[in-house]
Amino acid sequence: MTAILPDVYERMKSALRRPEMGGILGADSFGTVSEFYPDTTGSTIANQYTPDYATLNRVIAQWFQRGIYFAGFVHSHPKEYTALSCADLEYARKIKAVNHMESVLMLLYIPETNRFYEYLI
Ligand SMILES: [Zn+2]
Repeated sequence: MTAILPDVYERMKSALRRPEMGGILGADSFGTVSEFYPDTTGSTIANQYTPDYATLNRVIAQWFQRGIYFAGFVHSHPKEYTALSCADLEYARKIKAVNHMESVLMLLYIPETNRFYEYLI
C-alpha cells in the first residue's frame, strides 16, 4: 500500500463527485503521496475521462521545483467498475514509459460507495 496523507484523501473525495473525473498525485522524497491536483479542465467523452495533459504537465513541473515528484493518477468510476479498464491500463503503461517510471500509481475512487481502490502498474 502506498502511503497517502489523510488530507489528500479528503481533497480527492471532495473533488471527484461523480464518475469519470480525475486528477494527479504527487509524492515527497519518502514516497508519501502529499499532493493532489484536481483536473477540472479534463474532459469526459463516451464515459471515459481524458486528462488535460498541458495543464497537468505544468503542475508536475511546478511540483518538481518543490521536490515533489509525479506519482500517478486518481480517477473515479461508477460503482460497478472497481477495476481499471483496458484503456486505463494502456494509458498507465504509456505514461510509465514516457516518464521512465518504475511504477505508476493508479487510484480509483467510487463516489457512490466512498471507497478507494489502489493499483500499482
Ligand atoms: Zn477508468
